[in-house]
Amino acid sequence: MIRTEDYIPIVGEPVITDLRLLAQKLKGRKIVHVNSTAIGGGVAEILNRMNPLLKELGVESSWQVIKGGERFFEVTKKFHNALHGKKTEITKDDFGVFIENGQKNAEEMATDADIMFIHDPQPITLINKKKDNRWIWRCHVDVSRPQDDLWRFLEEYIQRYDAAVFSAPSFAQKLAIRQILIAPSIDPLSDKNRELPEEQIEDVLRQYQLSRAKPMITQISRFDRLKDPVGVIKVYQLVKKYIDCQLVLAGGGATDDPEGLEVFEEVKSLAKNDSDIHILLLPQNDIVINALQRASTVIMQKSLKEGFGLTVSEALWKAKPVVASNVGGIPLQITHKYSGLLCHSVEGAAFAVKQLLHSPQYAKKLGENGREHVRNNFLLTRHLKDYLLLFHSLYHPEDIVYL
Ligand code: UDP
Repeated sequence: MIRTEDYIPIVGEPVITDLRLLAQKLKGRKIVHVNSTAIGGGVAEILNRMNPLLKELGVESSWQVIKGGERFFEVTKKFHNALHGKKTEITKDDFGVFIENGQKNAEEMATDADIMFIHDPQPITLINKKKDNRWIWRCHVDVSRPQDDLWRFLEEYIQRYDAAVFSAPSFAQKLAIRQILIAPSIDPLSDKNRELPEEQIEDVLRQYQLSRAKPMITQISRFDRLKDPVGVIKVYQLVKKYIDCQLVLAGGGATDDPEGLEVFEEVKSLAKNDSDIHILLLPQNDIVINALQRASTVIMQKSLKEGFGLTVSEALWKAKPVVASNVGGIPLQITHKYSGLLCHSVEGAAFAVKQLLHSPQYAKKLGENGREHVRNNFLLTRHLKDYLLLFHSLYHPEDIVYL
């Protein structure tokens, strides 16, 4: 069970006192989060911890997941790719499927909470049911360069919300409504991030037939082309020419991502001639991910686009040296050569990984700096405070709250 006081040793008592005060003042207000998957991906990861902690603080918060068939999730995956700037043909029929599915969900879902907190584009059309309650649209993806036709379509809905929340300054859009910058977070006490006994890490390594005999380079991600798994293999192959190492590419799927299995098969076939490449299709198991991150020598996040990249904060919190692409929300988490290494290409990433494997002291220092940066900026407690302030601000638009 989540208890707010358990966070005191990590973030200090004043932070928790603030949260309790802010939560108290929301007594009697009902908040409903809505997204499109209960399992897999960063949004579900956050809501799994955010929602119980809000409740623990006495806020009446709940979480609902919209329904959708295969065709709907094909369309929303297209949306996801197009929002990330990948040229994607979205047909009239696609938009029709999206609208129709939204209507079905709207009929089935109660939307009369004081604050409706809608995550990402999938449930965005629920705004059609807005009455005199408050609605927030929380965008978790990198929308710095969205495909024009899709953005114009979504904008019609976004403009009717009371506020839009983005993860990084570069994602801000021209909108007539309030825009707020709130970065995501990780929970230091979840199974994904808490300290693990060494035996438990060893157990997981045995379970996946991994050994620590060779330095372990790891990327944990859904099998999604935007996470560039093929690029990760290329990086490893360049490094391997100089340093005997192994690669772990591990991830599961998300129920709202239909492309996962196809990408997994593609990556697996690329790796089949090298027994030091381990492509793991994981069940949803936070301890396994935690253990793999902790057992790694270097962690990579070679995404081509990234809303935020929780996996980066997860690795940094474990004081791991991280090599990650300079895209989306990643540079918020990594200051180059201070709390990790940023890269722009396969060659650049390989150079960075080699450097870290050759200089364990430097790698250690980057990891330690990264952990402190995450402690100060990307833990659930800071995120909660930002949300609580946002909730208050919806009722006091005259008192502008700078988050
Ligand atoms: N994750 C997981 N299982 C997997 C792959 C990823 O639990 O097989 C988690 C990962 O640890 C992180 C989240 O899912 O907490 C992914 O969030 P991120 O922001 O990195 O990427 P997204 O999947 O949302 O694009």
